[in-house]
Amino acid sequence: MIVKSAEFICSNTQVSKLPPPEKPEYAFIGRSNVGKSSLINMLTAKKGLAKTSQTPGKTQLINHFLINDEWFLVDLPGYGYARISKSKKEDWNKFIRFYLDKRESLQCVMVLIDSRLEPQKIDLEFCNWLGEHGLPFVIIFTKADKQSSIKTDQNVAAFKRKLTETFDSMPDYFITSSENKLGREEVLGFIDSVNAR
Ligand code: GDP
Repeated sequence: MIVKSAEFICSNTQVSKLPPPEKPEYAFIGRSNVGKSSLINMLTAKKGLAKTSQTPGKTQLINHFLINDEWFLVDLPGYGYARISKSKKEDWNKFIRFYLDKRESLQCVMVLIDSRLEPQKIDLEFCNWLGEHGLPFVIIFTKADKQSSIKTDQNVAAFKRKLTETFDSMPDYFITSSENKLGREEVLGFIDSVNAR
């Protein structure tokens, strides 16, 4: 896919105010600091599109970006802030889970996982929740430039082992780096292929 245009459309705190579900949409989500904003900027080739390193605990927003006038890239708030209050965590749960469950135009959830880390409980729990709710998802391993490809492969294999304890097979996954654009064509190609269905 060639990204010809990437345009910020809106930020929302309420599911009822989202744009009409008239275009296919892909939601990007992961732990805070996983590299989500950097990845969105890399995929769209627009540096300031998604704001990097947002302050933890800030208003939780669902951001819609329209790509090629064709599909929405949705930036969901990160999960797993260590210092966020319990009530804020519950708000996050309600808001995001409601969006994920009810958004009829949502084609796929793009779950971002830090490729430097061994499998994290919070990520596995989130994937399991998606599975239980019948939501299609793929995994995007981030920051692969930060270590050797052997180390990345080890962490990917470990994640795969953990995930297949509950799932029959590993979903599609992509190894990416926002530093050197690794995986860009693959992720965009995947979105293209789903849009063409
Ligand atoms: P977010 O909180 O998930 O949106 O994460 P950010 O995109 O703000 O990234 C968090 C930190 O990781 C920032 O300091 C980024 O520069 C850094 N980072 C993100 N992606 C990469 C990557 O692919 N490679 C490297 N080396 N650093 C990255």
